[in-house]
Amino acid sequence: MGCKQGNLRLIILTHGDFDHVGNANHLHERFGAKIVMHNGDSGMVERGDMFWNRRKGNILLGMIARILFGFGKKERFSPDLYIDEGYELSEYEFDAKVLHIPGHSKGSIGILTADNNLFCGDLLENKDKPVLNSIMDDSTAANASVKKLKSLKIKTVYPGHGKPFPMGSFT
Ligand SMILES: [Zn+2]
Repeated sequence: MGCKQGNLRLIILTHGDFDHVGNANHLHERFGAKIVMHNGDSGMVERGDMFWNRRKGNILLGMIARILFGFGKKERFSPDLYIDEGYELSEYEFDAKVLHIPGHSKGSIGILTADNNLFCGDLLENKDKPVLNSIMDDSTAANASVKKLKSLKIKTVYPGHGKPFPMGSFT
């Protein structure tokens, strides 16, 4: 992808799930890029436990997840910086800001660009059609996050899973 030492400066993690953070430490070491995320999810990547700071709904599911999605010592890391609602990314030459959109996890964030496009992590997904992600830690928080997004005149949403979609097609 053309990345070299020095030109990949920042790795923004929308949340701590291992299918989103697995290579972060490798990229950090190889390119010297800073890793930033919300502190609501940081224990997941520090301890290798996706259920850290999540409601312990299903202990069996938690055990299976740990076996299927091992996150070894080599992959674990501490973020270089915690970011939260309103954090501006302009110092990294990216005209965008952070939105805190909990629901899928407590530390889930989105990145809203200046031209109103959104990287939403796993709050919304679009495998067949745009929907709320089926895996929710806190559905009350998720509904509040959706309400917030709907108030923002967002154009295109880039979800963590599935294809980009116009915000207006999510009902
Ligand atoms: Zn996720």
